[in-house]
Amino acid sequence: MPANADVHEDIPNELAQEMQRDFDSRCLDAAIEEARTGLAEGGIPVGAALVVDGEILATGRNRRVQLGSVIRHGEMDCLENAGRLPASAYARATMYTTLSPCPMCSGAILLYRIPRVILGENRTFMGAEEELKAHGVEVVNLDSGVCAGLMREFIGAHPEIWNEDIGR
Ligand SMILES: [Zn+2]
Repeated sequence: MPANADVHEDIPNELAQEMQRDFDSRCLDAAIEEARTGLAEGGIPVGAALVVDGEILATGRNRRVQLGSVIRHGEMDCLENAGRLPASAYARATMYTTLSPCPMCSGAILLYRIPRVILGENRTFMGAEEELKAHGVEVVNLDSGVCAGLMREFIGAHPEIWNEDIGR
């Protein structure tokens, strides 16, 4: 054990964790911004951000309604906006999403081996989080009241659009 390995060593570690939490919160804010843009367009308020090496590579939002698309969930739109990336980039990526990722989006996350998912909430919808975890993906729920509020309001006003989004 090196001479300086005393109890003070865990202070920088705590600081690093706090910085990570701040960073995660800021990236989730970028996803929330997308969700709000989507809502203003008449769409479902789910947003996402793809971060690689501490940088937001792309953001996206659910655009099923806006584009008449069957696959443009927030995470899928974000991945598409990021464009083609090598496997090495996905391997260093974190997907931020305002809502627990559904099986389709979780499938894309697993396919491209994105190792970390930070989600805004799973109170209004529980996606395929267990499948992600079962494949070794780190899943963190920030349990954001803002994200849950956006979804509750939308689902209350447009239950049929929401049910169609999740195949119900
Ligand atoms: Zn999805």
